[in-house]
Amino acid sequence: MITLNSPDTSSYCGARTRAGSPCRIPPVRGKTRCRMHGGAKMSGGQPGNQNAFVHGYYSAAAKAERKRLADQIRWLKREMKEMRELRR
Ligand SMILES: [Zn+2]
Repeated sequence: MITLNSPDTSSYCGARTRAGSPCRIPPVRGKTRCRMHGGAKMSGGQPGNQNAFVHGYYSAAAKAERKRLADQIRWLKREMKEMRELRR
């Protein structure tokens, strides 16, 4: 997952270029995109800025919650599969 506050999650920008391939330019320090793809200095809001907050579906907290639930479901499915196999 890429979040604004975790730099160096990847070693390159990854934005989709006009050719359709991911951008290979390293991101601006502290950002997730290169300077050509929205990572320019002074671009974007201050950390914690809520001016563009609409429903929060893509907020770090909501993403983390969805990931947590997905991990839990994956774990439960694995457990259930194991139990089914033990019953045989
Ligand atoms: Zn880029």
